[in-house]
Amino acid sequence: MFPQRRSRVTPQADREWTLASVDRTIQLIRIGEQQGSSCSSALADDPWENDVQPGYGPGASQRDHLPTGSPVQGVIPREYRQASAAELDLRIRAARHSLGEKVVLLGHFYQRDETIQYADFVGDSFQLAQAAKTRPKAEAIVFCGVHFMAETADMLSRDDQAVILPNLAAGCSMADMADLDSVQDCWDELAALYGTEPDADGRVPVIPVTYMNSSAALKAFCGEHGGIVCTSSNATRVLDWAFARGQRVLFFPDQHLGRNTAFAMGIPLEQMPVWQPEQHLGGNSEALMGDARVILWHGFCSVHKRFTVEQIKHARHRHPGVRVIVHPECPIEVVQAADEYGSTDYIKKAIEAAAPGGVFAIGTEINMVQRLASEHPEHTIVCLDSIICPCSTMYRIHPSYLAWVLEALERGEIVNRITVPESVAVPARIALERMLSLSPVAAPTGQAQ
Ligand code: SF4
Repeated sequence: MFPQRRSRVTPQADREWTLASVDRTIQLIRIGEQQGSSCSSALADDPWENDVQPGYGPGASQRDHLPTGSPVQGVIPREYRQASAAELDLRIRAARHSLGEKVVLLGHFYQRDETIQYADFVGDSFQLAQAAKTRPKAEAIVFCGVHFMAETADMLSRDDQAVILPNLAAGCSMADMADLDSVQDCWDELAALYGTEPDADGRVPVIPVTYMNSSAALKAFCGEHGGIVCTSSNATRVLDWAFARGQRVLFFPDQHLGRNTAFAMGIPLEQMPVWQPEQHLGGNSEALMGDARVILWHGFCSVHKRFTVEQIKHARHRHPGVRVIVHPECPIEVVQAADEYGSTDYIKKAIEAAAPGGVFAIGTEINMVQRLASEHPEHTIVCLDSIICPCSTMYRIHPSYLAWVLEALERGEIVNRITVPESVAVPARIALERMLSLSPVAAPTGQAQ
C-alpha cells in the first residue's frame, strides 16, 4: 500500500534511470505557452524566485486567487539556493543518514521526482499521514506535499513529533477556495432556509462533508456540525453515511468530486446546485435550493480542470484501444467520456494490475503520470494533456528546501513546523474518525456511466 522507497541504498546510476522528472521536459511548457497554455515557462525558474511573488506561482494554479494571509516562505540561505543538484543530493543523503530513524520523509504522488526520490513512503495524503504512524521513533515527519496534508499529519501524529513542510508557500489552491468564514456564512443561510430540526426519520436538514483537501479548520467545522471528511477513494461510502443522517449534503471544497460521486449514486445534476460565496443562497433560487440533495461548493483543482473531452478524443484517435482513466476531480463531462475514473491509488493499482502491453491515457497530475510511465515500461502510459503543467504548489518543494530542513534537524533546529491548535484538532479528529469508522474503505468509483 505504501511503497517503501529505496532511496538511501539505490546506486546513483539506477536513480538517474528511474527519475522521470518534469524538469527534463520543461521545454514543453514553452511550447504550451506559445499555444496559449495557462502554464507559464517561469516554472523552469528556481522556486525561491517565485516565493517572493504574490500568488501560487507558475504551474496549473497560477491564475487562482491566493487568499490574503496565506503562509509565505522566507528566503533560504544562499548555500542551498546555489547548490548544484549533485551537492544537494550528497547533503540530503548525509543528513538522512545521520538522522536515521529520527526522521521520516513522506512524498505525495504529485511531488517532483527530484524530491520524491528521498521519500520513505509515497502515497496520497491520507495514506501518508497513516504511514507516518509506522515510524514511532521519528521525531520529525517531513511532508513533501502541501499545507493541508501537513496539517492532517500533525493531527494524526503524536504531540512530540514535529511535522515539517519544507516550503511554507506550498498550499493548495483548491483547499484555499473554501475558508471557514465563507462556509460558516453558507451554513447560517442554509439553517435559515431549511431550519435545524430533523425530519420524521430523524435526518437533520444538512450534513457538511469536506474533502481531505481542506484546511484543518474546515475539518473541525465538520466535526462540530455532525459532518465528516472524505477522500477521493471513499467519497461514495461517505455520502451514503451522510444521507443516512441528513436530508442533504453540503460538500466542499471540490465541486467536481462531489458532483461525480453523487451523480454515480443516481442523484440528478439538477439537484446539485453550486454555491457561490457572498451571493444570496449561493446564487441559486429558493426553488432550486428547496430541491437540492447535494450543495456543491464552487471550488476546483486547477490541475484536474485542465483535462478535456477533446483530449480524450485525441488520445483515442492516436492510440486505438487506449484505456482512459481520470481522477474524479476532473469535470463531469471528462469523467463521463473516460473509460474509468478513480483516486490516485486506483489509477496506480489499475496500471499495476494490467497485463503487459497496456496503453493508458491518464488524467491526473503530470509528475505521477510520468513516474508511472517510467516505472512501467511494459505499458505505454501518456498524460491526457500533452502540455507539461504541474501542480504549482507541490512543485515548490525543491530539493534545496529539503536539504535546508534536514540539515536544520541535524543541528537540533526545527524549521517550518506545521502545528494545528488542539482547539481545532480535537473537533477535526472527530470528523476524521467518523470517516475511519466506515469500514471497509470503499473501492474507488470505477467505471464511468
Ligand atoms: S493537485 Fe490540485 S488538489 Fe492537489 S494539491 Fe495541487 S491544486 Fe491542490
